[in-house]
Amino acid sequence: MTEHLTRQESKWAGRVWFSYWCIIGVHFLAQLMSFLFLPYEASALEFYSIILIGPTLAMSAALFAAWIVRRLVPRLSIYSLLIAGSLISVTLVRLNTDIRIISALLLLPILASVIFYRIRLTLFASFLQFAAFILLCLRYPVYRNYLSDFDLVATPCFLAMCTWVAIVIMIRGRELREELYVTLKAKQELMAQYAAMRRQSQIDALTGLYNQASFHEHFELAWEYGRQHPESGFYLALIDIDNFKSVNDTYGHRAGDAILSRVSGLIRELVPENAIASRYGGEEFAILLLGARYEEAVGTMEAIRERAAGIRHEDLGGQAVTLSAGLAAYEPAIGKEELFERADARLYQAKRSGKNKLVTAT
Ligand code: GH3
Ligand code: MG
Ligand code: MG
Repeated sequence: MTEHLTRQESKWAGRVWFSYWCIIGVHFLAQLMSFLFLPYEASALEFYSIILIGPTLAMSAALFAAWIVRRLVPRLSIYSLLIAGSLISVTLVRLNTDIRIISALLLLPILASVIFYRIRLTLFASFLQFAAFILLCLRYPVYRNYLSDFDLVATPCFLAMCTWVAIVIMIRGRELREELYVTLKAKQELMAQYAAMRRQSQIDALTGLYNQASFHEHFELAWEYGRQHPESGFYLALIDIDNFKSVNDTYGHRAGDAILSRVSGLIRELVPENAIASRYGGEEFAILLLGARYEEAVGTMEAIRERAAGIRHEDLGGQAVTLSAGLAAYEPAIGKEELFERADARLYQAKRSGKNKLVTAT
């Protein structure tokens, strides 16, 4: 008979526990006020000891015991709380038999158990309250005498009916929880699909590099980065494969595609982590080198160019393909378009001056 509570449920158990303290407090004040200001049959000694202090101490002791159990054996805490609630309800019923509706207080632990959405807890609370009712009838003639024969049958029926309603509420609540779970799951799947699709829409299928649209988004971000970190800034490099048309013309498009994918692999391998490489279009690539110093940017580009020139492609009959590139640095004073044009002009210059080279200044 143990019950593991989640953190949230423990929090609610604490709230129920606190509510019981409030009930004890309110009952204490109500009794005191009615003794002081309303006609009361008991003597002062009888009132203070038997009606006020004694039962209040007994109820407090039950709550305190529940608190100790909660500290020492957390998995029993909910049962100790329900038992304490049952004792409190019995005490309150016993002390207030002159209130006709007082038997309704027997519902208290049953209602409290609903918070945890566990049918066995509600059945346990219900069992306790049936036992409490029988105990009250057998042990406290004042209570028994107050009940009509009809009450004797109706009260347990009332407890049973409320237990049934509590269980129905829990079943419906669980159903709602299930529906919520399914909805959340569907939402998570949609989010994952969206992320995958978004990634797909950014990536060029042949080369695995970012596509042109994505390059422009990153260029925008790099520009922001440059504005925020003018001391480090960034470099833009444009690369174009030399004489690629003749590769296609001589060896076919399939060989051309293989070269494109190989050159892209090389770029991915050689750019530093904080660089963003894209296929700008056709056989042209754009690389954003974030936070790179001039030597690093030139080093990276030269490494790519040299490695590419050193690879003999079987599909091109053992020939190599060369790359030309233009490099330009971010400057706060010039616009984005101007920076792109600078890199493009340097790429053009590399082509005009013999290809297979990197140009860094016009
Ligand atoms: P340059 O050295 O001046 O850059 O000459 P080039 O021949 O490389 O330049 P040009 O712009 O004349 O030719 C580019 C070629 O790239 C033309 C086109 O067929 C080819 N190309 C563009 N995209 C692809 C592709 O996805 N696959 C293949 N196989 N070829 C492509
Ligand atoms: Mg080109
Ligand atoms: Mg070309």
